[in-house]
Amino acid sequence: MIEEIREVRKKVENYIENIKDLNSLESFRLEFLVKKGRIQNLFDRLKDIPNTEKPLIGKELNILSKFAESIHKKLKEELEASAESSSEIDLSLPGRRNFKGSYHPVLKTIEDFVKIFESMGFIVAEGPDIEDGFHNFDALNFAPDHPARDMQDTFFIESDEELLLRTHTTPVQVRIMQSQKPPIRAIMPGRVYRNEAISARALAEFHQIDGIYVDKNVTFAELKATMIAFAKRMYGEDLKFRFRPSYFPFTEPSAEVDISCYLCNSKGCRVCKYSGWLEIAGCGMVHPNVLKACGIEPEEYSAYAFGFGIERITMLRTGIDDIRYLYDNDLRVLKQF
Ligand SMILES: [Zn+2]
Repeated sequence: MIEEIREVRKKVENYIENIKDLNSLESFRLEFLVKKGRIQNLFDRLKDIPNTEKPLIGKELNILSKFAESIHKKLKEELEASAESSSEIDLSLPGRRNFKGSYHPVLKTIEDFVKIFESMGFIVAEGPDIEDGFHNFDALNFAPDHPARDMQDTFFIESDEELLLRTHTTPVQVRIMQSQKPPIRAIMPGRVYRNEAISARALAEFHQIDGIYVDKNVTFAELKATMIAFAKRMYGEDLKFRFRPSYFPFTEPSAEVDISCYLCNSKGCRVCKYSGWLEIAGCGMVHPNVLKACGIEPEEYSAYAFGFGIERITMLRTGIDDIRYLYDNDLRVLKQF
């Protein structure tokens, strides 16, 4: 009998190792703890045991019975608690996503410009946001009565009327030509300011990238080749190009660069205003007056220059059709890039 009690105890011990849920716990109860279970069966047989052995066997049986019951109670509490806490979780809910940070689309555009032009041998140059009239206008061949000099278009510094917030990044061209000897090959990304009413197409503060190449015998053909090489890297190989005559005070001749609309394959869409063309840059041969103002001899050197509007390019790349979305810092917009 003692042997049988030990065997049942061993079975109980083996059984509890495999109890993982309330169902297997219930099977355990039915096998060992109910009236027709293994333990009660041993108690029933106690009456056939000689009286001399009864106290010892009875004691062993009680130990086994209490052991099985306490294990059952403990496991039941544990399993019920974990079932309760897991039922609070809706397993059908999607997981929480951690959003990675990313470059702001405007910064991304600038980085891409810099990467491409650096690979073509251009360095990156910077200049001050607060400029004087000489660098922003005079050296760039703006006539004294040019409307850009008007308070309507330019933010002047109140305490010093000679100072203003630069209206373009072109003054950085002046600074680099004044401070370095040709050959000069540089791009100048930066922030510019105009006294404009804010709308879907205009901000008072935005970004440009200017570029300049000064050397002996620089030609318009090289300017065209540079613009085309850049645009193919930026927008893809299968583009068509168009150089339209234009006017800037600081270049002569001047041109606007159009590329075939890569969004609609030149078929015409909302973004290209159904023309099949997208304007991406202004450019031209640097005016001799500008070279002279910067201390460079126009008979000896020539130069080309170009300028891109970063927000405009970013809008074309992202499909954002209101420039203000770029600076609202609305995560619903920014998360898309
Ligand atoms: Zn189009």
